[in-house]
Amino acid sequence: MEHIYSKFYRQHETITARKPEILGVVLHDDAENYAAKDYIDWLQNRIEHDELEKGWACVYVDNSTCYWFHPSHHIEWHCGHTFANEHYIGIERCQSKIGGILSDEAFMRNEEASFKIAAMLLQKYKLPVNRTTVKLHKMFFDTECPARAWTIHLNNAPTNQQNMQRLQDYFIERIKAYELFTEEELAVLG
Ligand SMILES: [Zn+2]
Repeated sequence: MEHIYSKFYRQHETITARKPEILGVVLHDDAENYAAKDYIDWLQNRIEHDELEKGWACVYVDNSTCYWFHPSHHIEWHCGHTFANEHYIGIERCQSKIGGILSDEAFMRNEEASFKIAAMLLQKYKLPVNRTTVKLHKMFFDTECPARAWTIHLNNAPTNQQNMQRLQDYFIERIKAYELFTEEELAVLG
């Protein structure tokens, strides 16, 4: 896994203030064909066109690369929901477009990378892995996200509390499969 860091990891100036408290992670499906590296220019473009309010997350993940866009302890604009933006870390799973360039099997390799990053972030912030700390975007906002995961793991079941918890429980099970990481391993989180 290659980890790439934006300028916000090297400079004092950041887009947003610190999160008042970190409560967990939100796993997003980007609904695009972009790889993690493609988001380097994509986000730079948003900055140059003053379009950051359209949204961005801390980290963009595929099966080979993590692009760390903005430090995880800072507020993000990833959920369209103030409380979630201020308390949860966004993990954007890349190339998740339904009918896009990745087969389900290939997308699940990107998902697996996102589960590992989620496990590392939760350990870093000394949080357990449960329904309070592992959230879906659609729990906070009227969105299909995470649409690809919903299609693969729930076979397009209707959106309701029970099905959201089923997908949450799948994410939790996959995240829990990771053993504790060493401090050295956690250092890649920036
Ligand atoms: Zn989302």
